[in-house]
Amino acid sequence: MLVNLNAVLKDAQRNNYAVGLFNTTDTDMLEAVISAAEELRSPVIIGTAEVLLPYGELALIAPSVIEAAKRATVPVVVHYDHGLTFDRCIEAMKLGFSSIMFDGSAGDVEENLKNTREIVKIAHSMGITVEGEIGHVGEAASGDNELGDMYTTKEEAIAFVEDTGVDALAIAIGTAHGAYKSKPRLDIERLKAIREALDTPLVLHGGSGLSDDDFRNTVKNGIAKINIFTDLCVAGRNAVLENSELDYLNLRNKKVEAIKEAVKKKILLFGSNGRA
Ligand SMILES: [Zn+2]
Repeated sequence: MLVNLNAVLKDAQRNNYAVGLFNTTDTDMLEAVISAAEELRSPVIIGTAEVLLPYGELALIAPSVIEAAKRATVPVVVHYDHGLTFDRCIEAMKLGFSSIMFDGSAGDVEENLKNTREIVKIAHSMGITVEGEIGHVGEAASGDNELGDMYTTKEEAIAFVEDTGVDALAIAIGTAHGAYKSKPRLDIERLKAIREALDTPLVLHGGSGLSDDDFRNTVKNGIAKINIFTDLCVAGRNAVLENSELDYLNLRNKKVEAIKEAVKKKILLFGSNGRA
């Protein structure tokens, strides 16, 4: 069934588990994620991100993801990840996404507040939930995870949520997007302090490449949503390389199976299995 973030994250927060966001650029990845979630009876969040649109057009991928969510026997949030522009966020809402992230974290704080506030007003009038970001989760390839001045402070997190009314908040505590150059060090004390100060579910970006212990630790200390994409791409790519003698259709099935296994591992690690 198609639901918004509130339908899955509030329970996750109360019961100390996290729900995964697994992004997809095509129906192969979509099938892998939904079947993993159904097999493990887990709520799941699926969608695409603005930077992924060159690999899968929004207006083409949206109807497939939304239809798959409606048909699913577990709760599925269809989420537009890292919306960077107003136009694309509005387009995603019109196409039927049940949730969006507006990410103005790379720019000026005042501008981020103003735009997030505006998006929240529009989205909430349509029953759509919004995730915002304060502090900035950057790129692992640039070593951004080591830049402490980009981390979220408790004070700015409180002010951001009060001012914008977002339903979920992405925070920067030492992760970054993409493959890490060196092992990331997470600021768990910072996470704890923000968790204690806020009721809003917290989101961890840049999850691919963290250790199992890192995940357990962040979930235990208050992360309710975790974004995974790079790990799924790695699983799919490896399956293709290892089975290159197969014909296209069988190769495709191997790829879907490998991505599904990667999703299942994360669901079990996040503890969302059996929660649907
Ligand atoms: Zn992200």
